[in-house]
Formats: sequence, C-alpha cells, structure tokens
Amino acid sequence: MIRLLATTFAALAGLAFGSFLNVCLSRWPEGESVVVPRSHCRACNRTLTWWENVPLLSWLALRGRCRTCNTWIGWRYPIVELALGVLWGIVGWRLSGQIQAPDLAVQFSIGPPHFGLVPALGTMAFLWLLVGIAVLDAEHFWIADAVTLPGTALGLAFPLFSQSLLRLPLVAQRAFWLLLGERLLAVLAAAGLILLIRLVYWLIRRREGIGLGDAKLMAMLAAWLGLPGALLSFGIGVTLGAAVAISVLTRASHRTSEESTAQMKLPLGTFLCTGGIISSLWGQPILAAYLRWSGLN
Ligand SMILES: [Zn+2]
Repeated sequence: MIRLLATTFAALAGLAFGSFLNVCLSRWPEGESVVVPRSHCRACNRTLTWWENVPLLSWLALRGRCRTCNTWIGWRYPIVELALGVLWGIVGWRLSGQIQAPDLAVQFSIGPPHFGLVPALGTMAFLWLLVGIAVLDAEHFWIADAVTLPGTALGLAFPLFSQSLLRLPLVAQRAFWLLLGERLLAVLAAAGLILLIRLVYWLIRRREGIGLGDAKLMAMLAAWLGLPGALLSFGIGVTLGAAVAISVLTRASHRTSEESTAQMKLPLGTFLCTGGIISSLWGQPILAAYLRWSGLN
C-alpha cells in the first residue's frame, strides 16, 4: 500500500516536473524567462486557466488544441509529461521497495548500503535532464553546453551529496576518492571516444559527422553512469539511430535524391539520451546478461 502511494506520488511529481520542463523547452530556446509570465497560448497569448494547466489531462481534454484560437499545441507536451511521470514512477517504485536502482547500486557501492532518498532524487534529476536534452536536440539540433557542462559537474559531485563524507571510515573515504578519480577518467574517455569518431569521420569525408555537443553529452553520461554505462548508452543510441535512419532512408529513397539522403540530419543526442535513460534504469541487468552471454563472467 505504501509502495503504491509512493509510486503514485513520484509519478505525479514527474508529471508536474514534466510540465515545467515543457515550459522550459518552449521558452528557453526563444530566450524567454521560464518563470514569468504565467502559462499562455503561444499563438494567441491568452493566459491559461488553472484547468488548462493540468499535466496530461488538459491536453487530452482539449484534444491538443488551444480553446480560443484552435492552434495545435503539439505532441511534445503530453509525451514529455507522460515520459517523466512513468520514469519517476519507476524510480519511486524501486525506492519504496528499497531496491536500489541498478546503476546507483554500483555507483555508490562504497561504505554502507545507500538505499535511500538522495540517490533516487539524483536519478530523477538525471532523467529530467536527459528528457530535456533529448527534446532540445530533436526540435532544434542543439545540445546546450549550459545543460551538459553543469550536468557533468553535478554527476561527478553527486556522491558528495549522497552521504556525508566525514562520517565515513577512512577506508570508505579512500574508496570515494578512487570512485571520483575513476569517474573523471570515464568522462575523459567517453568524450574522447566521440572526438576520435569525429576526427576519423572528418579525415574520410572532410565533413562534420558528429558534433562537439555529443562529446559533452557523452561526458555527462559517463559522469553519472560510469564508463560501462556510458558505453552502453552509446551502443543503444547508435543502434536506435541507425534503425531510424534505415527506416527513413528506405521510405524516402524513391522520393529524394541520393545526395540529400546522404546528408540527412539525425539528432544523435536524442538517441544518446534514450540510451542513457535505458542504461540508467536497466543498465546493470543488461550488462550482466551481456557478460553471461559472452562467457566473460
Ligand atoms: Zn491560442
């Protein structure tokens, strides 16, 4: 019963924070404040009433259109709200079951067990950032440094918040600094991997294939998930991206010229973020299954 309540609460919080993320995603790229003015229709500027501001339900009730000017609000609003509601709900379910999120069990496997609120809140913040970056890249082909760089720092610093270092025995303190060093190396390796791919692509094609924003996003993934988690995100992201590219190409092949399809632009960051979300929640069992399957473990 408590578990159900906690999950519902986390999911509702996810819906609300998803709604706020939508406001950020609409206003921030336009250089507007995300705090004032109150929510309004972006077409006719009418301020929304409270019942038009309820996450998910309002969109459904209005069938995705403004009540006054009938402008299409867009799929992104319900998708972002639903995504964060579900993702935060999953974290809430795990927290209330005292089952540690798999990646965090590894990430914070120093000192005493860290079942608890703070790592779960960290995961929620991380998921919130990933959904935001995914949408920004899909809509604007933009992976903002103003998100990925502080996101990387936050991921590295997070173990500091999750426990008071001073109360730990010396052995655990040493383990903490080792973890931080390992994470720093992971950040450099993950970003370096993207830079290497970028260099090779440029040497062969003389054209930019993968952006610097993707390198910083990989750094952020490595800061939160460690190198195995970041590489898993990369593998999932590239696979998803390739699948989408192939399906788009096969559908468009008879319509567009070969040159334009060869230059088709895909938001790699969106796929990397999807990979990051999957490995953040299920990375541990996926990697364990892979190791068993490949006979390494
Ligand atoms: Zn309107």
